[in-house]
Amino acid sequence: MIYNPEKYSIPDERMVSFIDPDEIWHALNNANTDKSRVRDIIQASLNKKRLSLQETADLLMTTDPELIEEILEGARQLKEKVYGERIVLFAPLYVGDLCTNNCLYCGFRASNKEIKRVTLDFGELEKETLALIDQGHKRLILVYGEHPKYSAQFIHDTVKVVYATKHQNGEIRRVNINAAPFDIEGFRVIKDAGIGTYQIFQETYHQPTYAKVHTRGMKSDYHWRLTALDRAQEAGIDDVGIGALFGLYDWRFEALGLVRHVNHLEAVYHVGPHTISFPRVQNAMNLDIDKNYLVKDDEFVRLVAILRLAVPYTGMILTAREPAEIRDKVLRFGVSQIDGGTNIELGGYSKGKTAVAASQDLSKEQFQINDTRSLNEIMNELIDKGYIPSFCTACYRLDRTGEHFMEFTVPGFIKRFCSPNALLTLAEYLEDYAPMQTKEQGYILIEQKVNELSGSQNTVSLVEKLQQIKEGKRDLYF
Ligand code: SAM
Ligand code: SF4
Repeated sequence: MIYNPEKYSIPDERMVSFIDPDEIWHALNNANTDKSRVRDIIQASLNKKRLSLQETADLLMTTDPELIEEILEGARQLKEKVYGERIVLFAPLYVGDLCTNNCLYCGFRASNKEIKRVTLDFGELEKETLALIDQGHKRLILVYGEHPKYSAQFIHDTVKVVYATKHQNGEIRRVNINAAPFDIEGFRVIKDAGIGTYQIFQETYHQPTYAKVHTRGMKSDYHWRLTALDRAQEAGIDDVGIGALFGLYDWRFEALGLVRHVNHLEAVYHVGPHTISFPRVQNAMNLDIDKNYLVKDDEFVRLVAILRLAVPYTGMILTAREPAEIRDKVLRFGVSQIDGGTNIELGGYSKGKTAVAASQDLSKEQFQINDTRSLNEIMNELIDKGYIPSFCTACYRLDRTGEHFMEFTVPGFIKRFCSPNALLTLAEYLEDYAPMQTKEQGYILIEQKVNELSGSQNTVSLVEKLQQIKEGKRDLYF
């Protein structure tokens, strides 16, 4: 059974939600956007103080261009201070698009009869995984529609298939999940497969809008979804990802919904979400939403910067939904993970296709994507701009969970662990998958970064490990 309504039906009057719309509106309507106030808030964040709901609302309501520039600059400094130049890379792998829900923004919704419905069998899944391994990927997120066929056991089994797939020096070392909410037993079954992050987006924290855009199926139950990651935590999955789909309702309201969700998880489970996602609605087959809430580019950039300042030790994910120019811009303000070489057609990777927006067939895909660069093109650009592309999975494999928290709070953590590990995984990529020019540029970057790290703990050992990678050893980390 994928779900049992009796297990969670709580009479409405007893349903106390951690999202209180009055509190959110009160914070927005009473925002103080005086220069000195906004500057104090930015400074507090730079001093590693987590922002309150009201402080976040004050930043969200700021419209003075000079102060907006200061917010962006604050986020840039914070990102540099906390995360350094690392950008973690991953790829989405769509496993199945059957769906019993009817989300009006999604191409996979049940009422879209034109959509080609495909569920990869295990052989096809292995082929897709091989194609991604051969690009150089080490981290995937598996994506599923919501359907009785995609039971917890099915998800468990698909994760196992991905982990068991190897080719030459390549393997997938971390499998994250984006799928429907389960009950606690279901989450336990999935946890047993050894997943990384379980990601569920609330889509909108505004209940009336939620009801409007989720017209049928399990997903129409706002609270079942809102409490999903609590059940995941109860099942022992302490690595969870939250998100909102921007463009369904007022972006400032959604941003505060995300902050409240972080607060809730921190308060109850003493660990916040590992990641926050903030996808913007893209075109999809029969997209049927109120276009008044679409988020403009300049608002989106502000949103990313303000989230960075508000929740400094949460990873921030930006996907190929956004075009390259926007991705490049917001990378500076706080994004820590991006996808590369993305193809969201079911079975698309093994067909050898790189997605090209113009030729995307929306009867086969969930929505339009706008960054069609290959993984290696993205690697080149990151290296060119001085970022360290990373495929690191060390913390997860050493059970160092909550690593963003440690990066932020443990002095020297980034220098000692994150930067060396990022360089080691970059070297693996350069040895196994990169064309000659990328390899040359990549090693120049590695040398420069090793010099910058010199004198810090682990540098000697880092140089030795880099040499071992050149000699054929793999999977070395601190
Ligand atoms: N079916 C599961 C669910 O709904 O939670 C898995 C996730 S769905 C395949 C992945 C995410 O894509 C959704 O949570 C939603 O936020 C996002 N999405 C759906 N339609 C979209 C669109 N038109 N543009 C951008 N993102 C979209
Ligand atoms: Fe189904 Fe998820 Fe699409 Fe909604 S967003 S229709 S649940 S695949």
